[in-house]
Amino acid sequence: MLVQHDAPLAPLTTLRLGGPARRLVTATTDAEVVSAVREADAAGEPLLVIGGGSNLVIGDAGFGGTVLRIATTGFELDGTALELAAGEVWAEVVARTVDKGLAGIEFLAGIPGSAGATPVQNVGAYGQEVSTGITEVVAYDRRAGESVTLTGAECGFSYRHSRFKADPERYVVLRVRFELEDNGGLSTPVRYAETARHLGVEAGERVDLAAARDAVLRLRAGKGMVLDAADHDTWSAGSFFTNPILTADQYADFRARLDGRTAPAYPAPDGCTKTSAAWLIDQAGFGKGYGAGPATLSTKHTLALTNRGAATAGDLLALAREIRDGVRAAFGVELVNEPVMVGVQL
Ligand SMILES: Cc1cc2nc3c(=O)[nH]c(=O)nc-3n(C[C@H](O)[C@H](O)[C@H](O)COP(=O)(O)OP(=O)(O)OC[C@H]3O[C@@H](n4cnc5c(N)ncnc54)[C@H](O)[C@@H]3O)c2cc1C
Repeated sequence: MLVQHDAPLAPLTTLRLGGPARRLVTATTDAEVVSAVREADAAGEPLLVIGGGSNLVIGDAGFGGTVLRIATTGFELDGTALELAAGEVWAEVVARTVDKGLAGIEFLAGIPGSAGATPVQNVGAYGQEVSTGITEVVAYDRRAGESVTLTGAECGFSYRHSRFKADPERYVVLRVRFELEDNGGLSTPVRYAETARHLGVEAGERVDLAAARDAVLRLRAGKGMVLDAADHDTWSAGSFFTNPILTADQYADFRARLDGRTAPAYPAPDGCTKTSAAWLIDQAGFGKGYGAGPATLSTKHTLALTNRGAATAGDLLALAREIRDGVRAAFGVELVNEPVMVGVQL
């Protein structure tokens, strides 16, 4: 277990933002993770768990407690059952399962970060979410002081949300178990229209697994959504805002403000409608590349806020607030941040 003091956190995040950690602990086994959490909890020390730092906005003041970096490894495949240690690199996990001819997470290729963080916000893209494949999550329950195994149903998954995100001080994910599919080398049905078009198939068809993964990687790279240290469009936390889910009344109010424009609209649970945050941002006047300072919108995607190299967390948040306020003024819709904020608020 490596322990450092006054350790810079910015290099551990994809935004490259944030001040130092008072104490940074890097754990490479589950036992080290549990012991570091127990030690911090016993001392009443604030604790921040990080994996790949790809969904975090850390304030410029840093973190005045223990930051626990999860660097555990473990990829165990038994037939179609996959068990991952929380520290496994997600994008590599997807590549390995595709190479093994197994379907279920192929459309989640290229998403940065760790396997252990995927249940936290029910990671999803291109019509797939981890919640459909996760059978169990093994986590250390800080309230109970012991490790627990939660079934997929007990994880409370919904759109970019889970029990872990709802109660962030309680669980530290140690292992994630998936049930994958053996479709003879074929993918799960292509759900997303853009992917289907790119692959030259109809939505609902299955394609070769490697072709599915390659198509997703190409589409993502075109939007700056695959990490590339040389490309500042990828110095981001991915989508900065979640797609708003509007109640029937909110949706009626929103439509009344559209002035003849047609906004994306998808059915959501409980009679709600999901619209597109990227569309709202663009239509409110914040196009690709918007911003004159060291933090701007990505030149490839309006939904990614990026650090052009010299930004502070303050710069990024100022841009985020300008966009949130502009969308509210134009459409009456409140954008909500997707990344987790540490020591700062939108
Ligand atoms: C370029 C880019 C593209 C992206 N595209 C997508 C996308 O398509 N879909 C999508 O859903 N997300 C996307 N994201 C967001 C991000 O990659 C995911 O949310 C990812 O799962 C975060 O993993 P991480 O290990 O980096 O988490 P971190 O950023 O390190 O942490 C995020 C949160 O999870 C908590 N956490 C991390 N590990 C654990 C653990 N083991 N136990 C308990 N809590 C933990 C942290 O405390 C924090 O609250 C993208 C990000 C970037 C930078």
